[in-house]
Amino acid sequence: MGSIETVTGLVESSKLGKTLIHEHFFFGYPGFQGDMTLGRFNFEEKKKQGIEVAQQIQKQGVDTVVDPTPNECGRNVQLLQAVAEATGLNIICATGFYYEGEGATPYFKFRQQLGTAEEEIYQMFMEEITNGIEGTGIKPGIIKLASSKNEITAYEQMFFRAAVRAQKETNIVLLTHTQEGTMGPEQAALLKEEGADLSKVVIGHMCGTTDLNQHLQVLKHGAYIALDRWGLQGIVGAPMDEARMAVLSGLLASGYEKQILLSHDTVNVWWGRDPVLPEALAGLLQHWQPDHLFKHILPSLKEKGAITEEQIQQIFHSNVSQLFA
Ligand SMILES: [Zn+2]
Repeated sequence: MGSIETVTGLVESSKLGKTLIHEHFFFGYPGFQGDMTLGRFNFEEKKKQGIEVAQQIQKQGVDTVVDPTPNECGRNVQLLQAVAEATGLNIICATGFYYEGEGATPYFKFRQQLGTAEEEIYQMFMEEITNGIEGTGIKPGIIKLASSKNEITAYEQMFFRAAVRAQKETNIVLLTHTQEGTMGPEQAALLKEEGADLSKVVIGHMCGTTDLNQHLQVLKHGAYIALDRWGLQGIVGAPMDEARMAVLSGLLASGYEKQILLSHDTVNVWWGRDPVLPEALAGLLQHWQPDHLFKHILPSLKEKGAITEEQIQQIFHSNVSQLFA
C-alpha cells in the first residue's frame, strides 16, 4: 500500500485510520510577524493549546489530521511534532505557498522578475520532500497549492507547475485551496495538462460553491473534492452549512462517495493576537470547530437518510488510505 510521511515519521497509508483532510492547528496571516510584541510566541504554551485541540479531535475517534498550513503562514513543524508526540495523533504537514491575495508574495515575485522563481520553488519542494523542512528532518506529506478568486494568477501558476514536476518524481499528494468556490475545474485541468496524477490530487474548499456543475467537472477529471469548510459559513464567501448539506447529499446520491473528503478548515490557534469577532459573526461561526461534522452534520445527514455508515467509512478511511497509497 505504501507509506506516508507524518511529522513523527512514516505511517502505512492503510493505517492512517479516521482522517480529517484539512485542519490548521496553528495559522497566521502573513504580517503576524510584525505584531509579535502583543502576540507573543511561547513554545510550551502553544504546545499545550495544540494538545487540547488534538484531544478534542481524538475524542471523535480521529487518528490522523492533515495540516496544510502554507510555509509562509506560520508553519511550525516542530510544534506539530511536539503535539503529535504528546497525543499519539498522526499529523501530516505540507510544503507550499498561499494564494496571491493573502500569501507573502514579495519573496518569489522578486525572483519571478529575475526569471529564477519557478525553478527555485521546485527546488524548495524537492528539498523539503526528500531531506526535510528547515533542517528538522520532518517531511511534508502533501504539497499545498492555492489560487485566487476567478483566476489562477501567473504567480500561482509557478507553484502549480513546480508541484507537478515534484509529484512526477516523488508521487506526493497535491492539495489545493480554491477561493470562494471558484477555479476548481480549472485547477484540475491545469494539473492534468502539466501531467499530474489526478488520483493523487485533492481540489479543496469545493464546498465554497453550491453549483453542482463545478463539483461534477472536477470529479470527471478523477480528482478528489474536499468539502472541507463545515462550520465556516457566511464569511470569506462560504455558503451556509444547510446549503452544503444539500450539495453533499446530491453528490452521495449520484454515487461519488469514492472521491469525496470532508473537513472543517479550522484555525485553532492564531499567530499574532487572537482575532476578536463581532457578535453576529461569532454566532455564525459558533460551530467552526474540528468536531462539528461528527457532532452535528453527520448525525443530521444520517437522520435524513442522506448518508450511510458505509459511506462515512469510505470518506474518512478508505478514500484517505487510497489517496496516500
Ligand atoms: Zn486551510
